Amino acid sequence: MGAHITIGNGLAAHTFPLARELGAEALQVFAGNPRGWAMTHGDPNQDKEFRDLCYKHAVPAFVHAPYLVNLGSPTEQTYRSSVDMVAHNLARGAQIGAQGVVVHTGSAVAEGNVDSAMKQVREALLPMLDALGADAPDVLLEPTAGQGRSLCAGVDDLRPYLEHLDHHPKVGVCLDTCHVFAAGAPLDEPGGMTRTLDRLTEIAGPHRLRLVHANDSKDARGSFHDRHERVGRGRIGLDAFAEMFAHPALAGVPVLLETPGGVEADREDIPLLKSLRPGPAR
Ligand SMILES: [Zn+2]
Repeated sequence: MGAHITIGNGLAAHTFPLARELGAEALQVFAGNPRGWAMTHGDPNQDKEFRDLCYKHAVPAFVHAPYLVNLGSPTEQTYRSSVDMVAHNLARGAQIGAQGVVVHTGSAVAEGNVDSAMKQVREALLPMLDALGADAPDVLLEPTAGQGRSLCAGVDDLRPYLEHLDHHPKVGVCLDTCHVFAAGAPLDEPGGMTRTLDRLTEIAGPHRLRLVHANDSKDARGSFHDRHERVGRGRIGLDAFAEMFAHPALAGVPVLLETPGGVEADREDIPLLKSLRPGPAR
């Protein structure tokens, strides 16, 4: 259980101690500006120290690629920049010892473009996946809320997406609860989370779910709007998160908050979600 943490003044000097102070057992960072194309390089000393801290405290770390990345874009420049940015984030992920790099599944942007967009995703990702060693971060596909000509929103959309990537062993899924709810999953009704995770396991196979973004939603089920809310304060509700922790697909899978309110909200919500886990409270 952890959260997305802003890097601030250094991964080891600031990010890691802040995450631990909030009670985080896992964390996610951006490797640069999430809304820009600039490729930020790390500080090798901070990277090494951070890697050592994560290892010593058994805290899995993740990198989230910038929002502009769209491997399905019909615009050549956007596609090229997206390929370079995913490669850069995988390199940064390896340098900081991250378990995975989260990449949004993207959009075809225009009608009638889905086949070529999926072909681009395959051509971009397969060579990168093949080049990843066993210790390198996984590419974690995060389905979106279904806005625009989304290539993958609901759980069922993962079937063709994973097929296009030959079910590569270095590909995992990052399930964002706000996104899947916005795409129509019935997380707001009893049993809805369980059925959604059952379906995900059926489609993606075992051990494909490798990260969860635990976000509530400001908007109703099926809204296709991506507006995160603090857990228990949105339209999904806490019962769904309790159901989630009880599901066998969650065993050993890190769960991260990406919710509004910053550090002060995380300080309350990390323990809140921990309290929903089955077994003795930690
Ligand atoms: Zn997310």
